[in-house]
Amino acid sequence: MTETLPPLLAADEPPSYSIENAHGASPFFFTCDHAGRRIPSALGDLGLGERELQRHIAWDIGAAGVMSRLAARLDAFAIAQTYSRLVVDCNRPLESPTLITPHSERTDVPGNESLSAAQRQQRIDAVFRPYHARIEAELDARRSAGRPTILVTVHSFTPVYLDVARPWQVGILYHRDARLAHALLRLIRAEGEWVVGDNEPYSVSDTSDYAIPVYGTQRGLANVELEIRQDLIAEADGQAAWAERVAAWLPKAGSAAGLL
Ligand SMILES: [Zn+2]
Repeated sequence: MTETLPPLLAADEPPSYSIENAHGASPFFFTCDHAGRRIPSALGDLGLGERELQRHIAWDIGAAGVMSRLAARLDAFAIAQTYSRLVVDCNRPLESPTLITPHSERTDVPGNESLSAAQRQQRIDAVFRPYHARIEAELDARRSAGRPTILVTVHSFTPVYLDVARPWQVGILYHRDARLAHALLRLIRAEGEWVVGDNEPYSVSDTSDYAIPVYGTQRGLANVELEIRQDLIAEADGQAAWAERVAAWLPKAGSAAGLL
């Protein structure tokens, strides 16, 4: 007999996503997969202390604050995922071994070890599916309306990973469609002020990522993944400064790439 479990989220817990500028007129379309660090109360603290749950392993520090300001500046639709990536990582394919990761950097996540199929499914149903269903619905509606869409997925990275310091302030990540990414790289390098990563500190692949392969490549939408270093955007003033910068770069790069 297949085990079934009740819904993961209690009636008083927030949905798995929040939206800003639902009617934003811009072609730019923002997603933030690792915006939140909330854990559904049914999962306790996943066996981690509050200190661990505030670290980068639980969420993308500062990314939601940057995206929110960017969306306001550009009058663009934005969607942010509410729950910690440790509950279920919304930028992984369902088959990925790190979809519900039992280890992150050097931290074991006891609440993610030895999950039953039903427990895994419960997380997917509560968080992953509604978040992605909302993105799909929005992209479908824009396509039906003949509205152009340029996907920008916003992330942040830890300044030090496994003891190695990362030199970049910002990373421009892309996979098969590099139109916007290459235009951004040219523009940012031309300013002469930034150490910018070209598919650094990560690269995008079909097996390690979801948004770019599924919404960019499969739907044929121009796209880029932005990664900003967390120490620069941990506080509101840094988030505002980076949002200002990126809000200037995106339309220029989009025009240079012939997308606007
Ligand atoms: Zn991220």
